[in-house]
Amino acid sequence: MAKRLPKLPPLLQSKIYKTGQTRSANDDVIFQNRANRNGTVLIPFESIDLFDISILTSHKFESGFIVVMSPEDYYTNPEALITMKSKKLKLGVNAILLYETREQWNKFNPYKNKLSVAEKRTVPIDGHFVARILSSGSKGEEKIILGFNTSSCKGAGIRVAEYAPLFTIKSCHLQLEYLFWLCYDSKEVALGAGMTETEIEQRMTAITTACNNQKLANTDRLYKTRIIDNAKNTICPLCLKKLSAGAFLINFFESAEKSDVDKDISQINLFYINQLKIGEFNHSPYNLAWGHQNCNMICKETGVIETIKWMKEVVVNTIIFNKDSSN
Ligand SMILES: [Zn+2]
Repeated sequence: MAKRLPKLPPLLQSKIYKTGQTRSANDDVIFQNRANRNGTVLIPFESIDLFDISILTSHKFESGFIVVMSPEDYYTNPEALITMKSKKLKLGVNAILLYETREQWNKFNPYKNKLSVAEKRTVPIDGHFVARILSSGSKGEEKIILGFNTSSCKGAGIRVAEYAPLFTIKSCHLQLEYLFWLCYDSKEVALGAGMTETEIEQRMTAITTACNNQKLANTDRLYKTRIIDNAKNTICPLCLKKLSAGAFLINFFESAEKSDVDKDISQINLFYINQLKIGEFNHSPYNLAWGHQNCNMICKETGVIETIKWMKEVVVNTIIFNKDSSN
């Protein structure tokens, strides 16, 4: 897309843009709050076997990775040291210890072990540990928050399941906008939001062409993954109802108080067909859709297909149950 495209309505633009960012995180955890998905990745040591050595030693993660270990594993588990060696992990280089309890802090005190606080997301990280220990309430046991807690460097990295390289983030942006335009009422909604007919035409043509060129507009694949219906309209992957483009342009936070919101329009969220999982890279085209917030809440943990299987079981059981009770 060499030529500059007409702008999208701001709410829609930001909704699409935000899909390239991770979810929020507060200061009590070591994750960054709403960071770009191609940032430094944190891999829990317990999950390290899900990552092949070739993934760890290549530049699979654009901004690198940090393996997060418990002090118990590092100091008392001989297996852990063997694993570290085989995965080429080194404390203070690409691995850190995370202190989460006072017991860990007292038993394996990092200062007594001459460890220093980690503050850098790029390898070598030049630090060995991070602490996120909450206050116990009793005197002398205030919370201990150390490492990656300054305003300029908050959070050690992102959850590995949320990772995507920049190229993939951009492909997803394109496909997700394409899906907006496939909503049955997208044109009239965009007109209502202030875009002109020419601008809409330009934008739709450019996005469709880009998606076609990058193989992001495969109707059959989008249909089979429950992202669009057979009329080529965008649908919710769970309930299969057509989505109104209007839902992309409502600020639900602001309008929660007002009564002028159309009650038939429910909030739309980013939807994963296969849920995000450690060891998989599921933030990718054809696995992202738009869908109702309520439907999303139901299948967020297990993915769409597993949720439907579960729902089928519920319905079948209910039918049997009702038959039994009427006998
Ligand atoms: Zn739905």
